[in-house]
Formats: sequence, structure tokens, C-alpha cells
Amino acid sequence: MMKRTYIAEPFRIKSVEPIKMTTKAERKKLIKEADYNLFALDSEAVYIDLLTDSGTGAMSLHQWAGVMEGDEAYAGARGYRKLIKNAKEIFGFEFIQPVHQGRAAEKVLLPILLKEGKFAISNMHFDTTRAHVEIAGARAIDCVVPEALDTTSKFDFKGNMDNARLEQYISELGKENIGVIIITVTNNSAGGQPVSMQNIRETHAIARKNGIPVLIDAARCFENAFFIKEREAEFHKKSLKDIVVEMFSYGDFFTMSAKKDAIVNMGGLLGARDKKVFEVIKQRCISFEGFVTYGGLSGRDLEALAIGLFEGIDEDFLRYRVGQMQYIGAKLEEAGVAYQSPAGGHAIFVDAQKMLPHIPYNEFPAQSLAVELYIEAGIRGCDIGSYMLGNNPDTLEQLKADFEFTRLAVPRRVYTQAHLDVIVDALIEIKKRASKIKGYKIIEEPPILRHFSAKLAPL
Ligand SMILES: *Cc1c(COP(=O)(O)O)cnc(C)c1O
Repeated sequence: MMKRTYIAEPFRIKSVEPIKMTTKAERKKLIKEADYNLFALDSEAVYIDLLTDSGTGAMSLHQWAGVMEGDEAYAGARGYRKLIKNAKEIFGFEFIQPVHQGRAAEKVLLPILLKEGKFAISNMHFDTTRAHVEIAGARAIDCVVPEALDTTSKFDFKGNMDNARLEQYISELGKENIGVIIITVTNNSAGGQPVSMQNIRETHAIARKNGIPVLIDAARCFENAFFIKEREAEFHKKSLKDIVVEMFSYGDFFTMSAKKDAIVNMGGLLGARDKKVFEVIKQRCISFEGFVTYGGLSGRDLEALAIGLFEGIDEDFLRYRVGQMQYIGAKLEEAGVAYQSPAGGHAIFVDAQKMLPHIPYNEFPAQSLAVELYIEAGIRGCDIGSYMLGNNPDTLEQLKADFEFTRLAVPRRVYTQAHLDVIVDALIEIKKRASKIKGYKIIEEPPILRHFSAKLAPL
């Protein structure tokens, strides 16, 4: 891969948040007290927090000014009208409902499309999307292209739907049993990997032919649009807004966690095209989220989101943003540290199995690398591997994940080039002593979603 230079920030810093510095000896003690679970650390104990890019971005002065202008009226707030106007312009959808975060949109929408005996098929379901498919009584099927499974493959659109397999599923399961086809942009679980416009068009054509509605899971739709512009010749000269409008034109619905690409600490959106269905959505929103003109958000949040949509789709911002991942990726490549490549839009997924080949999946190499990164430099990432996957619910045996990733998700507009160098240097140091690093065993675990609260001990 070409060596990338760092693309300088298209902003300057007006307000700073000091970070507490800790020593290696202190961190060894702190992580032991946290039973080697990074979720149990106080955030003050962390130097560079890469646990998630969700709700962790830095708002601009315009967004903070919007916070002060927030109209907290229960009904008909100014910020609501501004948000709907901006969102309609960006997404080209007829009907849009604000909600408090992405999973709230899923909770409101998915039971309208799914019930027992039905299936949802996606390029990859995000965990909460899968959960809401299952809560509705349906089953979730992932259908990503095989290139996504090879971390060294340089395929441009590893987030794509495997459309041949999609057609096969539809004919095997019966089109009347597929409640929805979900296109997740970017494909978070495959490593923040983009989906091409060509692929979205094909998926849409298959859905139309079979009369199945399409839902766009749009958490990182602006990063996806940026990749389309860079990597699909037809779009090199198109504006990001035109690309987003075309992407969304292939959806009957969209759900969006605005905590990602819209750079707010809290917020979400739900879009529909059918007036009758939207009436049902509004009623369900009133029950679960609150009245339609605030949808579970404060007036100040509505303002920050209305403004954040335009900042999130800004091309100079996205070039810098995606450039941060490409910068880390190029440096890791140089140092021989394997990761899901090419780098995705919001995170680097380090291939911990390649770094720690002597640690078997049931001793959690990706968790082990996450702990080492914390001890080495105060960096907090997380395991996306067998530790997160958990046990077979019937046999209670540890499941083996396809990948052992240590995910380093980068918050928007928060860390500088020097911080990124700290991350790269820490990984290089760890690689030098990799053969001496040990795995972990679990000493206490809850039955579901154990990775948040399990206790571990080094082997
Ligand atoms: C974060 C996310 C969600 C859920 O959104 P929340 O705001 O966390 O509730 C859904 N889908 C994708 C792809 C996401 O990344």
C-alpha cells in the first residue's frame, strides 16, 4: 500500500479536555483491579479511548451555539422543524422521525416489518439490529461477500452484500417470508467496510423484483458516500450530497444512529416513504420515545443534530476523518502489523490472531492484545472475537469466532496525529514482545453479553 501522509485537520481547537496521565505501573494495577475487563475501567484511567466512535465525537462551535438556542417546547419546537428540513434535504426522504438513538428507530420500525416465521437478510446485522429482529420473533441472516473474511485482501468494497447468495436465500426461504433486506452502510461488523453504489443498485433490483422492502441502516452513510466517491469511477466528480441521495433512493426506510456520522452525543432518525406506514411509525414513536416533535430528544439535541448532519457530510471533514484510519493503516502495514485492510471508515480492526498466533481462540487473543494496549500506553480498545462471541447456549462450550479482532474505534474530531502515533508505536512495541504475551481465562461471567461484565485472569 502507498504510504499515506496525515491529512491535516480542517478545524482548529477552541476548547480542550485535559487527560490524566498514568504510568505503566499504575495501569498494571488498575487493569488488575478491573479484572482485566476494559469496560470496568473508569474513563479517567484511560489516555486514548478507542472503545467506540459512537456519541464520542467533538461538537463544533455551531453545534454548541445550537444547544443554547434549543427550544424545549413539548410540541412544535423550532429545532424539530429545522432538523426535518435539513434531513429531508440530505436524505431525500418524504417522512422523517427523530428518535433518541439508532436502536430506538429499530425498536419502532422492525416489528412493523417482521414477525415470527419471517427473516431479515443483511450484508451484516449490527448487534442491536439483530436483537430487534429477534425480539420481533424473526431471524437474522448475514450475507456479506467472501472477500470480507480475508483480512489481507485489498478488495475496495468488503462491506458489499453477496447478491448471488441473497437471491439463493430468497428462493430457498420464499420471498413472502423475507420481511426486509437491510443494507448496513458502512458495514460496521466487517470492519467499517464500504458498500459500493453498484452493489446497492443490484440489491435494490433484487428486492424490487421480489416485492421485499429495503431498509438502509445508515449510521455511517457519509463515510460510505466518501468511499464511493473515491473508489467508484462514476462518482469521482459527484457531490457527496448527490451520492447520499442516490444511495437513499434505493431504500424504502432508513434508520440512523446519529451518534456516529452526524457527530452528536445522542440522537437518531427514522425515515419512511409510505404515508400510511409513517402514521403507524408516529404512533409507535409516541408510545416508546415521546411526542413526534421531540422523539426522545431534548430541544437542544435536535438543534445539535440539525447542524451536525451538514458537518458530517462535509467533504474536507470526511477526507481528514477517513484519512486518519488510512494513516494508521499505512503505518501498521509498514510495521507488519496485520489488520482488516484496506482501513475502514471509523476504526482499525487489528488481526490479533496474526499478532499472537500462540494464543488459541479460547484464551482470547484479541482481549489479550486489548489489555496489552492499555498497559503499554493507556489505550482502550475492545475485543471483537471469541471473547465477545461467548458460549454455545446449549452446550455452554466456548464458540470460535471467524476473526480475533482488537477494534480501535476513533472518535470524530477528538484525537490528533500525535495520538495516532502513540497508538501505532504501542502496537509496534507489543509486537516485539508478542511471543511472551499470555492468554486469559474467564473466572466469572453472566449468561448473555458477557464481555461487558465478565471477570478475567491471566493464564
Ligand atoms: C451504532 C449502530 C446502531 C445502533 O445505534 P445506537 O445509536 O447505538 O442505538 C445500529 N446500526 C449500526 C450499523 C450501528 O453502528
